[in-house]
Amino acid sequence: MIKAQIFDISRGSFVDGPGIRTTFYFKGCNLRCKWCHNPESWDKRTQMLFYADKCLHCGLCERVCEHNALRDKEKCVACGRCAEVCPHRARVLMGKEYTVDELLAIAKEEEPFYYDDGGVTLSGGECLLQIDFAEEFLKALKENGISTAVDTALCVPRETLDRVLPYTDLFLVDLKALSPEIHKAFTGADNAVILRNIAYLSEKGARMWIRIPVVPECNGTMEEMGKMADFVNKLPVERVDLMPYHTFGINKGRALAIEMQKFSSVSEEDLKEFMKLFRAAKGE
Ligand code: SF4
Ligand code: SF4
Repeated sequence: MIKAQIFDISRGSFVDGPGIRTTFYFKGCNLRCKWCHNPESWDKRTQMLFYADKCLHCGLCERVCEHNALRDKEKCVACGRCAEVCPHRARVLMGKEYTVDELLAIAKEEEPFYYDDGGVTLSGGECLLQIDFAEEFLKALKENGISTAVDTALCVPRETLDRVLPYTDLFLVDLKALSPEIHKAFTGADNAVILRNIAYLSEKGARMWIRIPVVPECNGTMEEMGKMADFVNKLPVERVDLMPYHTFGINKGRALAIEMQKFSSVSEEDLKEFMKLFRAAKGE
């Protein structure tokens, strides 16, 4: 039976599309955005996060670990026993497998709240990397009359989009930068396929919101925002959200032994100026 690796489920979300939504966060991503607020999504495997600042060195976790992995994390098999006994939530297991039926049951529990265009959002990480599951889950949601959204960076093959297009009511597209060299430097990936996919979704008449993280040291300049606006304003996108950078990912990165870069925050004045560039800007 096909299963997805999910690292979080948000019930009653207001920020992942219209109305009230249930958002399922898929593990695994093929970008490495330096400002990422969910670095726990990068690796598809289940992982153990360790928050050293919460640890009171009681030793309970060491006693239950059968793999001697507290001293050598390479030996960790992510069984979660240490997290179960830790009284201070210093150890947190991230990632759990679910079947389509299990996620559908959660979505149906929340269905009474899906009025006003609400529904289910598949997010991540990059949910479209788990395409077999995503396609089956989206199809099941539609068969049950539940509205669907896919939150994606679109760094995926065209065939992947073709598989989810029939079952996706709204695409939330994360656009990071238009200049190839800026995109590559801050995400590790080329953006040619992403821009082609955005144009393709437009041609197909897909309903689309564009979401742009605003990071002053990366894309947060009039020049780069202007380029993005020139590109986006020609497309029939319904809405553009500019999302100021925040530091949520730094502590989680530390818990994963990943060094996350710290950026500055965009000023309100600059954000207002950037928003004026986009025809469909809504801001946060
Ligand atoms: S998750 Fe399991 S193997 Fe890994 S450190 Fe904890 S108890 Fe040991
Ligand atoms: S059980 Fe929690 S508080 Fe105790 S040593 Fe382990 S991580 Fe630290």
